[in-house]
Amino acid sequence: MKETNLLSCNESDLETAAMLLKKGEVVALPTETVYGLAADALNSEAVAEIFNAKGRPADNPLIIHISDLEMMKRYTEDIPNAAYRLAEKFWPGPLTMVLPKRSIVPDIVTGGLDTVGVRMPENEIMRKVISMVGRPLAAPSANRSGSPSPTTAAHVADDMNGRVSAIVDGGECSVGVESTVISFEGYDTIRILRPGLITAEQLRKVVDEVIIDSNILSDTVPEVKEVRSPGMKYKHYSPEAHVVLVRENLSDFIRYVSAQPEENLCCLIFDQDAENFPFEYMTYGATPEEQARQIFSKLREADKRGIKNLYVRAPRKEGVGLAVYNRLIRAAGYEVVES
Ligand code: AMP
Ligand code: MG
Repeated sequence: MKETNLLSCNESDLETAAMLLKKGEVVALPTETVYGLAADALNSEAVAEIFNAKGRPADNPLIIHISDLEMMKRYTEDIPNAAYRLAEKFWPGPLTMVLPKRSIVPDIVTGGLDTVGVRMPENEIMRKVISMVGRPLAAPSANRSGSPSPTTAAHVADDMNGRVSAIVDGGECSVGVESTVISFEGYDTIRILRPGLITAEQLRKVVDEVIIDSNILSDTVPEVKEVRSPGMKYKHYSPEAHVVLVRENLSDFIRYVSAQPEENLCCLIFDQDAENFPFEYMTYGATPEEQARQIFSKLREADKRGIKNLYVRAPRKEGVGLAVYNRLIRAAGYEVVES
């Protein structure tokens, strides 16, 4: 067991965080998406510690986080023109671009792939620490592999106390789900590998063609050979509770849940569903943006409350709702019912 330092985001605590990172230690940091488990991306041993602390499979690549565009040029090559236009429009922000990596980026970061995911986060604490360290930070979500991503420092502490050198408390994450991940295909075509707050509609305003990977739209477990984004093949984001995702309208949802065994049952519904709702429930917001912000903390709360069966109202698979749906269907181990 390590001693885990709980740090605030004042200047001297951020200096402590940067110093630990320069020494090759792992530090959890806030970003606008979810908390990240950061280490110096150019230090293979430090990166190995991230995989260790998370219990993450070695073939699931990490994203590197940068604080300025020069860093993108330093660590990637053959950068398409579209990447600069997307950076101009969406960085700093929750968009990750998969680009050919330079050899200076260690193989352990990318799970042996010759590409690397790069993101410039909007969170100023994160960007400040990256500039203080002067190197890109590899940072996957700061949860134990498989469990819901952390959106507060307390969530990180629940999973990582004793496993990492420090946790910087930057308050609650404003976006709440991980970044939109894209790759480039051909001259002005991109493919969404993981949906996030930045939607296909927004991306279409900047590039000619946006393909949404079929694994994102499908409700069945992806075929391993068809997975372009290695992280998508793992069961993910799951609480201890048995989660079932229920599609379609409120009255059908209620009818479906009525037919289930009632022991320890709870529903996760939209704010607007709550009036006269006939079962125990939690709400997770009224809009897809609010649902994104709250989904992971509600999945964690279900476990804290000892809930055994959680029935979740599914958002529509469009816009930001697609990102929320994508996390939920994995949390449910693809158990989705059309009520
Ligand atoms: P996380 O670190 O938990 O935010 O997950 C990172 C996500 O980005 C995973 O789904 C990875 O599969 C994906 N990713 C990272 N790097 C690459 C890459 N080089 N090619 C394809 N997908 C990537
Ligand atoms: Mg993750």
